[in-house]
Amino acid sequence: MTTIAFIGVGNMGGPMARNLLKAGHTVRAFDVAANLLHAVADAGAANAASVKDAVADAEVVISMLPAGQHVRSVYLETDGVLANAKPGTLLIDSSTIDMDSARAVHAAAEKAGFPFLDAPVSGGVGGAEAGTLTFMCGGAESSFERAKPILEKMGKRIVLAGGAGAGQAAKICNNMLLAVSMIGTCEAFVLAEKLGLDAQKLFDIASTSSGQCWSLTTYCPVPGPVPTAPSNRDYAGGFATALMLKDLKLAQAAAQSAGATTPLGAEATQLYSLMAAKGHGGLDFSGIIRMLRGAL
Ligand code: NAD
Repeated sequence: MTTIAFIGVGNMGGPMARNLLKAGHTVRAFDVAANLLHAVADAGAANAASVKDAVADAEVVISMLPAGQHVRSVYLETDGVLANAKPGTLLIDSSTIDMDSARAVHAAAEKAGFPFLDAPVSGGVGGAEAGTLTFMCGGAESSFERAKPILEKMGKRIVLAGGAGAGQAAKICNNMLLAVSMIGTCEAFVLAEKLGLDAQKLFDIASTSSGQCWSLTTYCPVPGPVPTAPSNRDYAGGFATALMLKDLKLAQAAAQSAGATTPLGAEATQLYSLMAAKGHGGLDFSGIIRMLRGAL
């Protein structure tokens, strides 16, 4: 079994660390919010007093932090991972962060002789608890092969997307596509309402025609056609608008620095910003149909 340092045991990192413990790994956890360490300690983790303390004897380091600035600080500062982990320790950052930070930390890790993977996830807190996350990985194939058996204890789909930063790229491209397809799906239902076309009829026709997409068939934004979709629960739970907005902003930053033209991604960012600014950041992102109807 492997000794794993887990940095950042919040909404996602907490249950991920608990699944590693369940699988028999030794986990040394650290979080700046010390109160969060109790829950993982109850599941068998050792509490570390600092990043340095957590990584000292680790064979693998996993981080699950809010944003690029936290990842840079945890890995690059003098009391951070690169300065204090044993040479050859496998480093895995599962946070969703900007491409520039992901590439900068990759480069610094490689220079210091550490194998490094960016491995952001999809699946949310439910997936973290159930151990069914998807990991989208960027880095060397040898690092991926080493990481896979560990990531499999927290997820059910582990994919190597390409080299440094490719995991982050896959995540933001997928979520930008998802946001655009959801808004398009919502617009179709709003137009159908105005035209007197029954929502179930639109669903039956579009879901077996060229308008078919995941936003329609799995996450239908009107209640009824797909009983498991958040629209049937008043848009509670699911994938929060605030988290979608974070990913859209990362996609726009990446598009700008890479020189990609993404006008619909930009429009989706504006619409989800408006929804969050109206105080609905906690609503599932399919709830944007209410804003399009003028009801938010
Ligand atoms: P969170 O805020 O609950 O957890 C992040 C943890 O990092 C916090 O407990 C915080 O105290 C800790 N932290 C911050 N700076 C630190 C430092 N310097 N050293 C140690 N710990 C530090 O966030 P979360 O919901 O668990 O999300 C984590 C990452 O996963 C984010 O990048 C998010 O975008 C991504 N993500 C979240 C979800 C979701 O549904 N919540 C889904 C997919 C991806």
